[in-house]
Amino acid sequence: MKEERSCLNCGDKIKGRADKKFCDDQCRNAYNNLLNGKANNSIRKINNILKQNRRILENIFNRNKSHSKVGKQSLINHGFRLNYHTHQFSSKSGALYYFSYEYGILLQGDEVVVVKREENSVS
Ligand SMILES: [Zn+2]
Repeated sequence: MKEERSCLNCGDKIKGRADKKFCDDQCRNAYNNLLNGKANNSIRKINNILKQNRRILENIFNRNKSHSKVGKQSLINHGFRLNYHTHQFSSKSGALYYFSYEYGILLQGDEVVVVKREENSVS
């Protein structure tokens, strides 16, 4: 008994080799382009969030210089997304910093300390 397969792109029935997934190269290309487009979209969305986080922290840092504090709610109001970061850094005292590229934050209750580290130590 032969298993009936259909093209992943257009859904048409496929004739030929058992491992074929598409009716032709055109369908294969169309399908792969669609998948890549979707992946690129989610990468772009997250990159934009991280870049915005970085920009917000940069502005605060440049205004107040190192170890400047800002209200957590004010940070959020500026569009900062707390759940997104590029990496974390744990200080010797155990304080956990969340970085968006070279700018990091340390949560202290309702306040946030903004720091800058030139070298990107990924931990
Ligand atoms: Zn097809």
